[in-house]
Amino acid sequence: MEHFDVIVVGGGPAGFNAVKAVRSLYPEKRVLVLNDREDLQIPCSIPYVVAGLLKPEDNRYPVKKLAELGATLLFERVVSVNPQESRIFTESGKLYSYDRLVLATGWLPRRLPVEGTDLEGVYYIDNSTEAVINLVKEVASAKRIAIVGGGFISIGFADLISRFLKKEITVIEASHRIGSGVFSGDFESEMTSLLESAGVRVLKGAKVTTLEGSGRVEAVLLEGGERIEADLVLIFIGFLPNSKLAVDASLKVDRGFVVVDRFLRSSVDNILAAGNVALHYSAVDGAPWPGMVASVSARDGRIAGANTAGPVVEDRGIVPAGVTEVGGRFFGFAGYTQELLSGKGFDFKKCGVTSADAYPKAIGAKPLKLDLYFLKGSGRLVGAEVEASSRYVAPLVDLVAGLVERGITAYELLSKVSVAFPPVTPPPLLQPLQEAALAFLRS
Ligand SMILES: Cc1cc2nc3c(=O)[nH]c(=O)nc-3n(C[C@H](O)[C@H](O)[C@H](O)COP(=O)(O)OP(=O)(O)OC[C@H]3O[C@@H](n4cnc5c(N)ncnc54)[C@H](O)[C@@H]3O)c2cc1C
Repeated sequence: MEHFDVIVVGGGPAGFNAVKAVRSLYPEKRVLVLNDREDLQIPCSIPYVVAGLLKPEDNRYPVKKLAELGATLLFERVVSVNPQESRIFTESGKLYSYDRLVLATGWLPRRLPVEGTDLEGVYYIDNSTEAVINLVKEVASAKRIAIVGGGFISIGFADLISRFLKKEITVIEASHRIGSGVFSGDFESEMTSLLESAGVRVLKGAKVTTLEGSGRVEAVLLEGGERIEADLVLIFIGFLPNSKLAVDASLKVDRGFVVVDRFLRSSVDNILAAGNVALHYSAVDGAPWPGMVASVSARDGRIAGANTAGPVVEDRGIVPAGVTEVGGRFFGFAGYTQELLSGKGFDFKKCGVTSADAYPKAIGAKPLKLDLYFLKGSGRLVGAEVEASSRYVAPLVDLVAGLVERGITAYELLSKVSVAFPPVTPPPLLQPLQEAALAFLRS
């Protein structure tokens, strides 16, 4: 039986960054990383591949680079973990022992519990290159596509397919809001109307009861009897943590996620968990939070990798954040927004500003709409929603997330500065935040 100082299961963003951190910080450590699949796509860009804007060969996830980092890389499934003896077993019957194990086994698509999901033409998302190439072909030849789930990622998907492939698309969302519930009134309505003006039919409060067809899917049936004809159905109703290995090894699990402490250690001291498989905590109020995005996984990987030599990097919680694209406009959020704050009983104030994505003198400055959420009393910044056609939406979201994580208040926001030097003065990221802070303080 071969022994490794560190074994990482899963080579996605969490596993990749864990290996990178271990190899950079502790080059003397022998690292084994196992990933069950060899030819993968970067999931975040799959919608662009399906819409024909990116070729699958240009969207390959660089899993083989793990070997270049100096780790031993095996394309094999780990079938079980024995925490008592610190060993893992692989599908081909091999056995390896470890000092530290990092579980980074990622996500699985959430399944739709209705009849007909096994019909031809019904797809869940799968990021193997083979599956994505197949999906590209299916989407290209389909006439009517039903997308079940109107969450953050699927609306971007619907928008791209409709705009670039001119398909007849229906988005079926069970709740009364698209966008995973993170966008409030104006922003959500704007997304809906942009989708509709691109020809997408958006059904809200619509529950799927059956997928109908003989051999191949022909229609989606909704509660209330409506029948939506579709020759392709994409089920996109969210992700589940892929935690079977952890569950079988009797690690502590909550809602399917591996429970970890502030150093990403599981209930077994020498097993860490990182990425989508691990339960996260919100930096806003410490509540458990899934955090199933690539950026959080990459961050976890760095923390877990550093902590394979002992507890050196502390996880101070995550700030939920993301960006999507609808109708050529970018919608981003960070922290807690209206519905969540109301649901949690926070006393908050929303302050909106309309600003520009470049300084006024710049040619081609476009409007940027921003809502910031502050807690009444403390004035703490807890969240934001932003919409613009500019690529600066992403750094703005990151900036807000960082400020929310640090618990900054409206007053403290006013004292922040950003560098100014004409040829390289950054886009106005702080300025709209400070305008919103002033609006909050005025009120
Ligand atoms: C269509 C789509 C679009 C997305 N867009 C975005 C976006 O724009 N921004 C964003 O931040 N996130 C996005 N995401 C989410 C993002 O892809 C995930 O959050 C991220 O991949 C999670 O990284 P991870 O390392 O935790 O897990 P994964 O990427 O799932 O990696 C885990 C790896 O472990 C392997 N594995 C699992 N079990 C075993 C085992 N027993 N043995 C060996 N190997 C195993 C898996 O095959 C997988 O390769 C998107 C996802 C999808 C599907």
